[in-house]
Amino acid sequence: MALVDRLRPHVMTLAARTRLALLLGDPVAHSRSPAIHNAAFAALGIEAVYLAARVEASHLGDAVAGLRALGALGANVTIPHKQAIVGHLDALTPVAEAIGAVNTVVPQPDGTLLGTNTDAAGFFEPLRPHAGTLSGAEAVVFGAGGAARAVVYALLTEVRLARLTLVARSPAKAERLAQSFAALDPNGVLHVAEPTHADDYVRDATLLVNATPLGMHGAHEAATPWPAADFRSGQLVYDLVYAPAETRFLREAAARDATPLGGLAMLVGQAAEAFQLWTGQPMPLPPVYRALGA
Ligand code: NAP
Repeated sequence: MALVDRLRPHVMTLAARTRLALLLGDPVAHSRSPAIHNAAFAALGIEAVYLAARVEASHLGDAVAGLRALGALGANVTIPHKQAIVGHLDALTPVAEAIGAVNTVVPQPDGTLLGTNTDAAGFFEPLRPHAGTLSGAEAVVFGAGGAARAVVYALLTEVRLARLTLVARSPAKAERLAQSFAALDPNGVLHVAEPTHADDYVRDATLLVNATPLGMHGAHEAATPWPAADFRSGQLVYDLVYAPAETRFLREAAARDATPLGGLAMLVGQAAEAFQLWTGQPMPLPPVYRALGA
């Protein structure tokens, strides 16, 4: 087969019928979402293109009106708009209601815009093979921001943990997070510990999750949410940070025989769920991981 024919399924063609999907955020220049979705559209021959739009907070309402006016295929939402966009949408799914944030907008056949959150499903996907191990076990989540909310939702709804401890530098914020999930926590497994009083919880935990930017490429790269001494074999150490692929948190965990889980699978998982909602088709993962260089 000629090279051009072999490449054809992987090359996007823009035409009059091409639909538009967008990422709304600020900043967006670093985003991997266009690479993920455009690779998936091309691999399946879907006539659509995904672009990242830097939208200032004061223009968010206009941007959402634009999604309606242009008949967009769908949109993702990232920092700082995940909570603010709620007021511009027509309805939310129960998961977006519970998390209090939207990362995916799904246009409905009647023209209304439904907000949902695929971060929780994306987070849990790499843990699904470990669900049996997590049943009755303890977990610690570092951080109390938007990603931590999706993590807590997933852990409260997908597994029966014995204890789920939030460790955050702002304990009052973590307490508010815990209180907002009270309805999903009838057994009271969720509680808050200050970093200086968390050693025992970390040692006893089967799952440790970093939901802070510590370890992320840039100013935080040398940092970790927890020093290495407490890691052990049998622990799952999950970093939501995906750039770099191997953070200090993961490197130190692996060095002590814990199982490291990187954030790229969550990134692809949340994208796959959004893609399915927009197109009705499962995201083809091999071309997506190739596009990400992974
Ligand atoms: P966020 O809402 O800004 O929350 C960040 C959390 O980290 C807050 O609790 C914050 O504490 C804490 N924090 C920030 N700097 C800290 C520091 N120097 N020391 C200790 N704690 C610190 O951000 P987010 O949306 O939750 O994102 C958190 C991380 O998850 C980011 O690295 C993001 O890239 C990653 N993420 C990954 C995926 C994925 O698909 N893999 C998806 C979403 C997010 P304060 O509230 O006190 O500031």
